[in-house]
Amino acid sequence: AERPKNIWEMVTSAAARNPDGDALICGERRLRWRDVVPQAAQMSAGFREKGLRRGDRIALLLGNRIEFVLSMLAAAQLGLVTVLLSTRQQKPEIAYVLADCGAKLLLFEAALADRLPDAGEVPDLKHRIAVDDDIALSDLAILADLPPLEEACDVDEEDIAMILYTSGTTGKPKGAMLAHCNIVHSSMVFVSCLQLTEADRSIAAVPLGHVTGVVANITTMIRCAGALIIMPEFKAAEYLKLAARERVTYTVMVPAMYNLCLLQPDFDSYDLSSWRIGGFGGAPMPVATIEKLKATIPGLKLMNCYGATETTSPSTIMPGELTESHIDSVGLPCPGARIVAMDPDGRELPPGGIGELWIQSASVIKGYWNNPKATAESFTSGFWHSGDLGSVDADGFVRVFDRQKDMINRGGLKIYSAEVESVLAGHPAAIIAKACPVLGERVHAVVVTRAPVAGEILRAWCAERLSDYKVPETMAITPEPLPRNANGKVLKRQLRELLGA
Ligand code: ATP
Repeated sequence: AERPKNIWEMVTSAAARNPDGDALICGERRLRWRDVVPQAAQMSAGFREKGLRRGDRIALLLGNRIEFVLSMLAAAQLGLVTVLLSTRQQKPEIAYVLADCGAKLLLFEAALADRLPDAGEVPDLKHRIAVDDDIALSDLAILADLPPLEEACDVDEEDIAMILYTSGTTGKPKGAMLAHCNIVHSSMVFVSCLQLTEADRSIAAVPLGHVTGVVANITTMIRCAGALIIMPEFKAAEYLKLAARERVTYTVMVPAMYNLCLLQPDFDSYDLSSWRIGGFGGAPMPVATIEKLKATIPGLKLMNCYGATETTSPSTIMPGELTESHIDSVGLPCPGARIVAMDPDGRELPPGGIGELWIQSASVIKGYWNNPKATAESFTSGFWHSGDLGSVDADGFVRVFDRQKDMINRGGLKIYSAEVESVLAGHPAAIIAKACPVLGERVHAVVVTRAPVAGEILRAWCAERLSDYKVPETMAITPEPLPRNANGKVLKRQLRELLGA
């Protein structure tokens, strides 16, 4: 089968195969595939007019809206690199990413204007363009009267298409560089493993600014030329209404979203009979959630997808018919992927042995932007070190037990303890996970101080500097020193046990 070289070739192929099919739907706006290409090409004409050239970075601080997709496609046509910011990030986080990637142009939600850094902090950022529901991009000055760009830059498959920042042990976000070939490969994996066609209809309910939004939702639907219904914001009741009305067939969401759907008192009353594939990933899914969903929607195949930003989304997928018989597994390695469990000395363990999972595939990224040190630490001969503790059994089924990396998983959104701890730097602090039945985990802080400081003041301090979901929701303030090992490392397991979480 023909294999597109880059994201632009994927979308022109969708337009050629299914010109009249629904492509992007958001609220009242509906674009067919034949409309998507010229609209994106008009934006790229605008970007070129602004002097942007192959390899330049543009940043998106956009919510879930059609312009998000059009801008990343326009960038792909010109060979620009799209850098994603999350609408939940605060000013210092946004400034860090914009400066680190050297973006020349930013498209931002007009409502978030007060989160933008001052010009002095981001000397490369020459153009800032506000977007809101009333000023759709096609009306913007940058694009006025420009004809759509006809020719596409001959983007190489190894060229970087997007940079997505993930946090890490040092507390400073790292820019994962997703090449065109990584994204094309992952999209083809989803389409072939889930047997998606242009008859498929998906809802993008997760934030588009993360890898699941970009790959499992946007580029996978481009690859199969199906329809993508974009939800500006996830609300369980709205989601169920939309899924029934739009006859949705396929979605990938985090377990917390399924939990929230099931909490709707009228869950049974929606006609969800068209829904055949429910992918879930980003966090473990409670068994009870799977059982309840299956009981209400008999035709639904629930498929565990284990992956990360560094693997451009999927590295395992559970065949839907095996979900219940292999409930403790995240699935089988995707076509072409190799997953091994390693002992602490970097030796491959025999089947069933528990160690750090290392992943190699055409979806695994080459490294982090501008950060050879972090790249060297996290990648070995094409394998990404996941930081997850797991095993691979003799039949290839992968299990994920625990994390080696010091991370909290709040409904699929990841919080690295070091980042929050560094914001609380005035006090010794430990950030740990507190169990939650809906979100999986929530952020809890243990702060050591003898001063009479109120938790609310510390929380407000964090809220100005960190994305909302990273701010500790509960806090224990204590004069007692934190339990530490001989090297001075905080014993988090012990703290979690004290918390009973
Ligand atoms: P997104 O950025 O869209 O939230 P993501 O959660 O796949 O995507 P990361 O934020 O990079 O990507 O987080 C990856 C980590 O999430 C994995 O290393 C693992 O710890 C956890 N994870 C991902 N999928 C699963 C899963 N199916 N089951 C258990 N844990 C998972």
